[in-house]
Amino acid sequence: MNAMIQRLWALVRLRCPKCYQEKMFTYNNMYSWRKSDVMPVTCKCCGQPFTPEPGFYYGAMYMSYALYAALFIPAFIATILMDLSYEVFYISFVCIALLVSPYIFRLSRAVYLYFFVDHEEIHTKIVLTKQPFAGQK
Ligand SMILES: [Zn+2]
Repeated sequence: MNAMIQRLWALVRLRCPKCYQEKMFTYNNMYSWRKSDVMPVTCKCCGQPFTPEPGFYYGAMYMSYALYAALFIPAFIATILMDLSYEVFYISFVCIALLVSPYIFRLSRAVYLYFFVDHEEIHTKIVLTKQPFAGQK
């Protein structure tokens, strides 16, 4: 259970699915229109490629759809339970969806990559080599 929480926490923070250390996106500002989707080629920490194959993130569109549905359905149920008008729901949902759309874009890519990449503990290897001193053979 702890490993699952750790994985979810790394996912929400958009970290590498393999090492949970490095950020998956180059720029922190997700509202920058041109830089929002820029990802490093590989993880600096573990070497995991962030684009495993060309066109890999086409599948992330389905993740994005599911995430918007996960946002829409509870909001719609809350609208019915609180007896709000549909116009209020529609306007507030569009505003909220526009605000969170850059994050959902990134999160959908992260979720899709998390489906295919498992976590691995990164162990630092210390290799001790016996080298002769100067003058020794
Ligand atoms: Zn990594």
